[in-house]
Amino acid sequence: MAIIQSATGPFDTADMGFTLMHEHVLVMWPPMYQQYPELFDREALMKDAVARLKDALAAGVKTMVDLTPIDLGRNPAFIREAAEKSGMQIIVPTGFYYQRPFYFVGRPEADMTALMVRDITEGISTTGVRANVIKCATEPALDATNERILRASARAHRQTGVPICTHTHAGNRTGLDQQRVFAEEGVDLSRIVIGHSDDSDDIDYLDQIIQNGSYCGMDRIGLQRPRDDAQRAGMVAALVERGYADRITLSHDASCHIDFMPAEVVERMRPTWNFGHISNVVIPMLRERGVSDEAIHQMTVGNPRHIFELNQPY
Ligand SMILES: [Zn+2]
Repeated sequence: MAIIQSATGPFDTADMGFTLMHEHVLVMWPPMYQQYPELFDREALMKDAVARLKDALAAGVKTMVDLTPIDLGRNPAFIREAAEKSGMQIIVPTGFYYQRPFYFVGRPEADMTALMVRDITEGISTTGVRANVIKCATEPALDATNERILRASARAHRQTGVPICTHTHAGNRTGLDQQRVFAEEGVDLSRIVIGHSDDSDDIDYLDQIIQNGSYCGMDRIGLQRPRDDAQRAGMVAALVERGYADRITLSHDASCHIDFMPAEVVERMRPTWNFGHISNVVIPMLRERGVSDEAIHQMTVGNPRHIFELNQPY
């Protein structure tokens, strides 16, 4: 067991239960709401978020890891209120998306690391909410400025011991680039989840990520592109068949609210992109493909707990 931080305070990893390792409460572009505050209907968004989180609880989810980068509107106070009102345990992130934020153009990576460490060890701003996971991303390919963010994230990880969960462009095999940079920073790759691995149709790429020691985040389940449910379930089953159930996590990369399109368009274009889709639809598909209940438990309960129990700085 280990005591870790959630949006509503410390809790024991023994109480994590069924955990979705890569989701979002809010994903929004902050400058829009700073300039046009009338676009942010907080009350309506909170009501909707609480309903979606309650649906997830009803589908058997007990803990959710929010991986919203700071520059896509991470909102610890909103997450805490949604967690309190719904009963969902939510782990809050720190970290930046793939482009170096403008603020850091003329500042050293050390400043980025220091802010992440403070989010984790002291709390985010004045909210008192402490981050317990680091998000970083490589999209569409590794470049020099992206590498600086990965290195800053790796250093914050080693100083605090909280895991790193990434976003990759699987088609460009960027998980391997991330592993190379992390390894150069002395990171124990077994503490890393290489996210969006289920966007890949290349089992050799995923095998390599696992052989290098990391987890494959099969965490875009419910998005039907670039791979549909059957293709994603088939790849999970193939990896389990290779003996890798202890190196896989499952999630959707879904959101209570994402502002890159009008909400009704998201709903119409991506009807299966929700927090209950794995429980309700995809786990039965895994069983049909020969994945045992023991392996399903390992991927949804055992692995998330293990990832968060490796929590010592080094
Ligand atoms: Zn995401």
